[in-house]
Amino acid sequence: MIITVPRMGNICLAAKAFFEALHIHYVMPEKINKQTLLSGIALSPDEICLPFKILMGSYMDCIKKGADTILITGSCGPCRFGEYCELQMKMLRKIGANVKTIVLDAPREIGKQELLRRIGLISKASPLSSKQKLLALRQAFRILSLADSLDEKAHMLAGYEVNKGDCKKMITDCYEETEKSQKPDEIQTILTNCHQKMNNIKTDTSKKPLRIALIGEIYSMVEPFANLFIEEKLMNYGVSSSRLITPSWWVKDLIFKPFKLNSMAIKRAAHSYLPYNAGGHAKESIGHAVLCQRKNFDGAIQIFPLGCMPEIVVKAILPVIQQDKDFPILTMVVDEMAGEAGYITRIEAFLDMLEARRRRRGVISA
Ligand code: SF4
Repeated sequence: MIITVPRMGNICLAAKAFFEALHIHYVMPEKINKQTLLSGIALSPDEICLPFKILMGSYMDCIKKGADTILITGSCGPCRFGEYCELQMKMLRKIGANVKTIVLDAPREIGKQELLRRIGLISKASPLSSKQKLLALRQAFRILSLADSLDEKAHMLAGYEVNKGDCKKMITDCYEETEKSQKPDEIQTILTNCHQKMNNIKTDTSKKPLRIALIGEIYSMVEPFANLFIEEKLMNYGVSSSRLITPSWWVKDLIFKPFKLNSMAIKRAAHSYLPYNAGGHAKESIGHAVLCQRKNFDGAIQIFPLGCMPEIVVKAILPVIQQDKDFPILTMVVDEMAGEAGYITRIEAFLDMLEARRRRRGVISA
């Protein structure tokens, strides 16, 4: 078995560590770039959302590199994601791609037995004992959490750093190093050391940088190419940012979901604005905006792919939050036609407006 997992932020890093530990050959997808998107567009229906096209492009890249099995997650939720795996499998068959797809879905949708059978397909390809496999899984999750919290730290500290660019350089170097490494223990050590180095970055806590919450569709949140590298841009502007949705958050949310104990604070914060399930991570977007307003963030930026159904519902609700809470929110819709220059102009205008708002408030309170 030569397996691959779609590129989705830090998930690939954890997947690499996991499959290396299991002694299963793993194909690391290339960083998403314009070419990945173009080859995905060529195979995908026009109207489908951007993540579908990016993933198709990424699969093609991995198939060319020898992958014969693709591991993806499914969902029977109310948005198009529920159709993704079926449609993608059909398209891969249509072009004659010699690849097997393993779809991991919630037990309530496919039944416990079926889920175990699908996990067994991967498990039997590894020569390790069950205990060793579980330890490998635990380490992969540890790596995922370390990478996500490193990002979180860097994106927040960027507003306070004394030497501009320190945080960005630190995470860029760190990920370059992890890309080169194949051994799970080594990857974990690199990430742990980077945390240490990040703690030693010179910061000035008297600075009052703008603080922005990033909310929106999950793929646009976790995959930098899909949000046109917004976090990097905000770091360049010296703005601190925070995003709730990360791969490790998603795994924890999935574990606690069957017990209805997942993301309680977020759901409570969202309830008065969106009491129903609108699919995707609509509730999380609303809840995170409300919570960040309570934590005195300056504003929020919502990002989602064109035609994303759950986030269109969120977009309709955000103006109410904006008015109720006096909390500025900018919405950015991305698709393959999105021009970077227009995108940057809108972000800069939003940041200027937030700065002006702060100054005005200062004058009023004085
Ligand atoms: S959440 Fe939005 S972008 Fe993602 S699959 Fe569903 S409709 Fe598409």
